[in-house]
Amino acid sequence: MKNFYRDNPDLAFQLTHPLMDSDIENYDLVLEIIGDICANTIAPNAEEAELEGPTLSDGHVTYPRATAENHRMLTQAGVYGISLPQKYDGLNFSMVPTVMATEMIARADAGFSNIWGLQDCAETIHEFASQEIKDEFLPRIYKGDTCSMDLTEPNAGSDLQAVKLKAIFDTESGFWLLNGVKRFITNGDAQIKLILARSQEGSKDGRGLSYFVHDSAWGGVRVRRIENKLGIRSSPTCELTFTNAPAKLIGEEKLGLIKYTMSLMNGARVGVGAQAVGISEAAYREALKYAQERFQFGKKIIEFPAVYEMLSMIKAKLQDSRVLLYETARFVDLSKSSVDRNEQKHFRRLADCYTPLLKLMAGEYCNQNAYDALQIHGGSGYMKDYPIERIYRDARITTIYEGTSQLQVVAAIKGVVNGTFLSQIIAYEAQSVGALYAYLKEYLLTMRQEYEEAVTMMQGVESEHLDFQARRLVEMAGCLIMGHLLLIDAQRDESFLPSAEIFIYKAYCWNREHYIFIRDFKSSFYKTYTFCHV
Ligand SMILES: Cc1cc2nc3c(=O)[nH]c(=O)nc-3n(C[C@H](O)[C@H](O)[C@H](O)COP(=O)(O)OP(=O)(O)OC[C@H]3O[C@@H](n4cnc5c(N)ncnc54)[C@H](O)[C@@H]3O)c2cc1C
Repeated sequence: MKNFYRDNPDLAFQLTHPLMDSDIENYDLVLEIIGDICANTIAPNAEEAELEGPTLSDGHVTYPRATAENHRMLTQAGVYGISLPQKYDGLNFSMVPTVMATEMIARADAGFSNIWGLQDCAETIHEFASQEIKDEFLPRIYKGDTCSMDLTEPNAGSDLQAVKLKAIFDTESGFWLLNGVKRFITNGDAQIKLILARSQEGSKDGRGLSYFVHDSAWGGVRVRRIENKLGIRSSPTCELTFTNAPAKLIGEEKLGLIKYTMSLMNGARVGVGAQAVGISEAAYREALKYAQERFQFGKKIIEFPAVYEMLSMIKAKLQDSRVLLYETARFVDLSKSSVDRNEQKHFRRLADCYTPLLKLMAGEYCNQNAYDALQIHGGSGYMKDYPIERIYRDARITTIYEGTSQLQVVAAIKGVVNGTFLSQIIAYEAQSVGALYAYLKEYLLTMRQEYEEAVTMMQGVESEHLDFQARRLVEMAGCLIMGHLLLIDAQRDESFLPSAEIFIYKAYCWNREHYIFIRDFKSSFYKTYTFCHV
C-alpha cells in the first residue's frame, strides 16, 4: 500500500530529532494515516481536481468533486484541528508534525494543501480571541469547517497598511459591520473568515486596522469572481464583496495588522515553506522516475552527467529546504514550550528570523527544482501528459503569496544586521564533526569569514545601498545555515552526505559570487542599476 509518510525516510528522521518532544508515537500514527490519504486519494485526485476546478454560482463556490472528496477523507479521519488543544477536539500537535502533514499534502496536490493549511487561522483565534469566540469557532475545525485569511485588496498587497475595508460598530446588533472588497483570497467562500479591516475612521496606516472573525452563516459576503490562475487550480482564489457583513472583533482594536496579522502570517509562512518542500519532493520524484525510464542514444538518460547533475542538485536543494523547514518549526515549538523566559525569547528571536529565510529559500528552490525537473522530461514535460507540467505551474506561487520573496528579504535582513544569524552559525560550528566531514566544515568556515566581511562592508552605508544588497546577504546567511544543518544531519545518518557535499560546494561558490559582488560594487554602478527610473 502506497504511503507518503512511510515512503520518505527523511520525515521519520526529522521526527526523531533529539530536540523533538516526547509524543512521537502518536505523531507517527497520525502521520501514517495522512500519508495513506495523500498517496491513495489526494495524489490520484490531483489532475481531476485541477481540470474540473472550483465553480461559482449565486455568489458561492463549489469545490471540484475530487477536492471535496479529499476534504471529506481528511475530515472523516479526524485530523483537522491538528494543532488545536484536545478540548476543541484538536490533536494538539506541535509545529514539526503539523508542517510534516502539510508537506505530504502539498506533495500530493499543492492546490488542495491550501485548503488544509488555512486551518492555521484557528491558531490566531486560539491565541488572541475571547473565550466566547474560541468556544464558538474552534470545535468546528475538527468537523471540517474551512477557513480563509482575508487581507489583500486591490490597492493593498505587499503594503497591508493601505487596507481600506471598513468596519463600523453597530450598537443595535452588537456586531461590527464590514463593507468593501477583498481580492486574491484563497478559499474565499470558507465558513470561517479572518478579516483585516479599518476600524478607526480617518486613519491611514496600520494602526487603524483591527482583526475580525466572520461566520458564513451571518451572510453579507459574496464571491464576485473566482480567479483564472496559472497554478494551484484545484483551490479557489476569490474576489469578495462585503456588504454590511456582521463580524466580531478579535482581541483589541488597532492591533489587527501589527500583532494578529503578523502572528498569523508567520505561521502561514512556515506553512508555505512546507508546501514548497512538498512540491520539490513531487518534482524530484517525477524527474527521477522519468530519467530512469527514458532511453536516448541507447541508454537511460539518468546516465548522462548533464542529467544526473540536475537530479542530484534537485535532491540537494530539496533536502536542504527540508532541514531548514524542520529547524524553523523546532524553533517555533521551543519558543512556546521552553519554561525559561530567556530561552523562550531566544527561540522566538530565532523563529522570527528563520521564518522569512525559510519562505525565501524553500520557495525559490522549489521553483528551481520544478524548472529542472521539467527540463529532465524534455518535450514531454511541456505537455499535460505528465504531472510535472502541473507541478511546475503550482510551484510558481510559493515565492509570491504570504509575502513575496522581496518582502521576505525585508524581514530576514534584520537577522543579518542584528547578528542573530551569525550567532546561530557560530553555534552550529561549535558542534563537532567527524574526520570524514572535515573538508566540508572547512568550506563552511571560509563561507562564514566571507559572510562576516560582507556584513562589515555594509555597516554605515546608506539604507538604499543596504536594501540593494540585502538579498545577497540573506542568501549568504541562508546557504551557510542550510549547509551546517545538512552536515549535522549527515553525522546522524550518512545518507545525507552526498547532498551535504553537493550543496555545500555549490553554496560555497554562490556565496563567493555574492561576496565579490558586494566587495567590488561601486556607488557609480547605481547609475546602471537605476537606468529604468524614468
Ligand atoms: C493565488 C494567490 C492566492 C492568494 N491568497 C491570498 C489569501 O488567501 N489571502 C490574502 O490576503 N492574500 C492572498 N493573496 C495575495 C498575495 O498575498 C499578494 O498577491 C502578495 O502579497 C503580493 O501583493 P501584490 O500582488 O499586490 O503585489 P505588489 O505588492 O504590488 O508587488 C509587486 C512587486 O513589487 C515588489 N514589492 C512591493 N513592495 C516592495 C518592497 N517594499 N520592497 C521590495 N519589493 C517590493 C513585490 O515583491 C513584487 O515583485 C494571494 C495571491 C495569489 C496570487
